[in-house]
Amino acid sequence: MSSQKIKQDKIEQKLKIEDGSVRVRFAPSPTGPFHVGNLRSALFNYLFAKRYKGKLILRVEDTDKERSEKKWEEGIKLSLEWAGIEWDEGPYYQSARGAIYEKYLKKLIEERKAYFCFCSQDDLEAQRQYLMSLGKAPLYSGKCSKLSKEEVEENLKQGKPYVIRFRTSEKKVVFNDLVLGKIEQEAILLGDFVIAKNANNVLYNFACVIDDFEMKITHVIRGGDHISNTPKQILLNEALGFPLPTFCHLPLVLGEDKSKLSKRHGAVFIPEYEKEGYLAGALVNFLALLGWNPGDNREIFSLKDLEKEFFIEGVQKSPAVFNENKLDWLNGFYIRALDKKELAKLCLPYLIQGGLLEEKGSLLKANGIEVSFDYLVEVIALYQERLKKLSEVGELVDFFFKKEIEVERGLLQWKEMEEKEIKESLKKSYKALDKIKEKNWRSDFITEALLKEADDLKKGDKGALLWPLRVALSGKKASASPFDIAYILGKLRTLERIKKTLEDL
Ligand code: GLU
Repeated sequence: MSSQKIKQDKIEQKLKIEDGSVRVRFAPSPTGPFHVGNLRSALFNYLFAKRYKGKLILRVEDTDKERSEKKWEEGIKLSLEWAGIEWDEGPYYQSARGAIYEKYLKKLIEERKAYFCFCSQDDLEAQRQYLMSLGKAPLYSGKCSKLSKEEVEENLKQGKPYVIRFRTSEKKVVFNDLVLGKIEQEAILLGDFVIAKNANNVLYNFACVIDDFEMKITHVIRGGDHISNTPKQILLNEALGFPLPTFCHLPLVLGEDKSKLSKRHGAVFIPEYEKEGYLAGALVNFLALLGWNPGDNREIFSLKDLEKEFFIEGVQKSPAVFNENKLDWLNGFYIRALDKKELAKLCLPYLIQGGLLEEKGSLLKANGIEVSFDYLVEVIALYQERLKKLSEVGELVDFFFKKEIEVERGLLQWKEMEEKEIKESLKKSYKALDKIKEKNWRSDFITEALLKEADDLKKGDKGALLWPLRVALSGKKASASPFDIAYILGKLRTLERIKKTLEDL
């Protein structure tokens, strides 16, 4: 048995999780585009559920009515589907669960575990300033916690605006985070925090605790940025007499400069990655390694592999750094693993969008001339090895679809070649290629014919023949080999391009 397997077994014994017992939730707020941190949380919850044959519940936390939007909620579902993350229950919407929250809110108020607070914003600000001037933490003073039932009723009758606060007691909150270990927090330092703006408008911490209980959530797996909410949620759980779920906070995701990953670091939203031509499998693989490792140096994991291999103790405590080069490398790996036709199909929308190809009914056209799907497959296959993201395909292969290309003079020069030598080189290529019969126009014949010529030129320095030719055919500093390009362009277009370059020189 591998040491990795032994470690996993030990951990699983320690966790004592029985198959079928796990219920986790992914609970995004639809207040903006779905980002990599969201998808990672969804993925880890999904994998945890899979590992223990449990259930993943999708819960849309849309209590913030002003910031929640339908389009963001649609985006969440689309991104999860794109990544292949399936949920077993839901989506449940917090906005539709007001009556449930109200019931529990009433209970807490009746039991005097929560209270109405009528302090105005100005009052609160004055209290804050006062406490700060004494060098104390600006927690709520507890002024309204002392109001009598009659005073509260009188205020409510007068229609005074209010919020509802939780009555925090003096105790230490201690919990064992699955990733971070033992965490302690003095409850008193949390102050009497607000749990609802009014009876039909509860806030995140409250709604979350009620839902986790009602939905029988066993493990709360979420981003490390929620760690400060956990003590509040534990206090609420205790006050309501709910059993505690197990908490598990995932490491923060940082940019390469070690600051919190944000727009500043480039793309952070899932639809942007999709648009740039990252494959879902590559992004999922990348996100799995963002804070988790299998305990050995394997790096390639499909979603199916992860479903078998992922285990929660492989999640690290320290922040994970989002390394874009690694994502590109993984994406390249997944692109190389694709079937040629599949890759061509995936690239097609980028070529159309880039104006290189047009779809006319079932036909593909470049500059009004029909292009076969096989041609497209051959062109793309030439770049399969070097393609890192699908969106790059247009700039790599554009010259295969253009009628005429621009060839920069300076680029034709190999080493110290003079113009006269460049001309001579291109003429040699022209002659050698012209001699090849149409029926023999294949990469191997082309290679043989050209290499024979190259031997005679510049003391056998092959670049002296192949570089100017490659540039004349592609117009590019870097491209596939001239043999492959010439083969795919066909004899006629190959000779035309050489001729045109010679004329322009
Ligand atoms: N709605 C919260 C968010 O989107 C998630 C809260 C949680 O997982 O407890 O960040």
